[in-house]
Amino acid sequence: MTARIIDGKAVAAALREDVAKEVTRLQRDHGLTPGLAVVLVGSDPASEVYVRSKGKQTRAAGMNSFEYVLPGDASEADVLAVVEKLNRDPAVHGILVQLPLPKGLDPNRIVAAIDPAKDVDGLHPVNAGRLATGLPALTPCTPLGCIILTKSVHPSLQGMDAVVIGRSNLVGRPLVQLLLNENATVTIAHSRTRDLAALCRRADLVYAAVGQKEMVRGDWLKPGATVIDVGITRIPGPNGKDKLVGDVAYDEALQVAGAVTPVPGGVGQMTVACLLVNTVRAACAIHGLSKPAV
Ligand code: NDP
Repeated sequence: MTARIIDGKAVAAALREDVAKEVTRLQRDHGLTPGLAVVLVGSDPASEVYVRSKGKQTRAAGMNSFEYVLPGDASEADVLAVVEKLNRDPAVHGILVQLPLPKGLDPNRIVAAIDPAKDVDGLHPVNAGRLATGLPALTPCTPLGCIILTKSVHPSLQGMDAVVIGRSNLVGRPLVQLLLNENATVTIAHSRTRDLAALCRRADLVYAAVGQKEMVRGDWLKPGATVIDVGITRIPGPNGKDKLVGDVAYDEALQVAGAVTPVPGGVGQMTVACLLVNTVRAACAIHGLSKPAV
């Protein structure tokens, strides 16, 4: 039997539709149009593609999209001035500073300058702390997407054994907190973990967020496990174009797991959709409205 393939594209499209419905309701009932501002410093081609796609999806959901592009040699003071202007702007409910920033700019200082109420990337220490202490928080988009994909297979994660491989602030750590909030039993693994394969073999849910091509093998998995592959490694593909490969040996996993996310077409599809969710949530919280249906 082969595993079910979790269709990130379809789940993300449904989520974007739900966001658009909430935006329509907020406009109709409260005269509120959520707004997302994205700040791009420099001209990294991959970042430019991401920013364009975020703007397009924001507008498609009926929200306002604001883009601020600063030159690659902008100073930290220049970037902070933009962030502070956006913090004060009542039309802006979400602020995202596209990472990575050019060398010489301290991402921690810049992220810390964002109003935590508008921190739709969920990277501000206040939001990380709120999440870690079980308080409502804006949470990083990729882990949020991982939870939504998992729940498309298992509506309740209560009591399930989860292993998260990777402990970054962007993915692994917030994912652990979100899994705890879902009452899963969580083990967090990293580069110093001993016998990772044995650890994974015990897990009902395996999350791989490492960045090592096909590290998780089929024989690391418990039969029927759900496998969420966050990793993205670019390798040269046919016709000179890069091919994306995940952290999981996909063909092997298909033979053992119960459900698997593909790369591409899995977690990556969810990240921007979750950014839109966070913007709607931030807009509601800023205006004292009850939590939206997304
Ligand atoms: P980081 O490099 O910040 O973190 C990688 C983590 O993996 C670290 O905690 C590291 O451990 C751990 N690790 C490294 N090697 C091993 C190993 N051999 N065994 C076990 N653990 C190991 O990466 P990110 O969290 O930012 O991203 C992880 C992956 O997810 C990347 O491929 C990235 O491209 C992808 N990504 C995908 C997104 C999407 O939208 N699909 C969004 C964000 C990221 P240690 O802490 O000990 O060094």
